[in-house]
Amino acid sequence: MAELRIADVHKAYGRVRALSGVHLTVRSGALVAVLGPSGSGKTTLLRCIAGFEPPDVGEIRLEGRRIAAPGASVPPERRRIAVVPQEGALFPHLSVLDNIAYGLDRAARRAGRATAVLELVGLAGLQDRMPHHLSGGQQQRVAVARALAPRPPVVLLDEPFNALDAALRAELRRDVWQALRADGATAVLVTHDQAEALSMAEEVAVMRDGRIVQSGPPELLYGSPADPWVAGFVGEAVWLPAVLDRDRADTPLGTIRLTALEGSAPTGTVRVLLRPEQITLVPPGAPNAVAATVVRRDFYGHDAMLALRLDDGTRVAARIFDPASAPPAVGDEVCLHVRGTARAFPPGERASGRRPRGRRPSGPA
Ligand code: ADP
Ligand code: MG
Repeated sequence: MAELRIADVHKAYGRVRALSGVHLTVRSGALVAVLGPSGSGKTTLLRCIAGFEPPDVGEIRLEGRRIAAPGASVPPERRRIAVVPQEGALFPHLSVLDNIAYGLDRAARRAGRATAVLELVGLAGLQDRMPHHLSGGQQQRVAVARALAPRPPVVLLDEPFNALDAALRAELRRDVWQALRADGATAVLVTHDQAEALSMAEEVAVMRDGRIVQSGPPELLYGSPADPWVAGFVGEAVWLPAVLDRDRADTPLGTIRLTALEGSAPTGTVRVLLRPEQITLVPPGAPNAVAATVVRRDFYGHDAMLALRLDDGTRVAARIFDPASAPPAVGDEVCLHVRGTARAFPPGERASGRRPRGRRPSGPA
């Protein structure tokens, strides 16, 4: 178990500023996800933590001990930090067991550590297989087992589930999470997949342009994003133009109560953030219902997303649950109602360009 502290780390490759002042503390035994789009600096951060790149500025401490700072660096092999790369990285000519046992000392081998971690990652019985006789998911499990085998205090995972298909990813995430927990390792998982970050980590640090722009528990990031960009990146966002009236906002979907804000709240003309699951279908004539036309429907089985146009032209998105029973069709007139509170943001801040699940960005056109 070990606490990892990253303070003001900068790293440039020539003129490319990959990291511009990263601060991050990972509590001992915690699993933190670093979530950011491609090119935001996630891999560079992991490489600085692992010791493959020296930071230009700033320092990294493990259990209080300084492991990286300009001109003073503990070499990677002495950091006791394990890295699980994106894919591959198994020795093709070694069996599963030998791959896992590779970094173990004799005592650990004799104590059966390799077999124990093999069980931990759900591969009991496959010790004699060669890597090319394993599925992609099984190979990643072996890579995780090999990283965990020497009981490193810190495990870094760089988009380890990318090459796998969706169903396999979900299962592997759960098993890897359990294996990390069982071992008490401090873990940093890098991903561009918001579902992966929100479902696996106790804390998510959102990275953009070489900086951590917000970090906190998944519920906080989803419910109280720091800015419109984070709002769009960690979930699907519906933006409504609004005029503030004390703790309420007048919007094309009616008057919506605002989430209580600390500090200075915006005033006047703003835009408010809703999540698609806050917009529900209600029977015609329900109090405060707003009419809309369905312009698109994406059916996902457990839920469906509706793209809707209000009479004034505003576009919104609604997530409807149990869509298999009586789903509205494209062209249908429906009535909408907003549940819960909304957050207000100043108008015109840059939003994320993310397009989750193939949906066009919603909100005012
Ligand atoms: P991510 O892992 O989030 O996709 P990276 O850390 O790989 O981001 O990259 C951050 C930025 O640094 C990108 O602009 C990338 O092109 C650049 N970069 C990464 N590694 C190198 C390198 N070895 N040389 C030059 N530029 C690099
Ligand atoms: Mg990367």
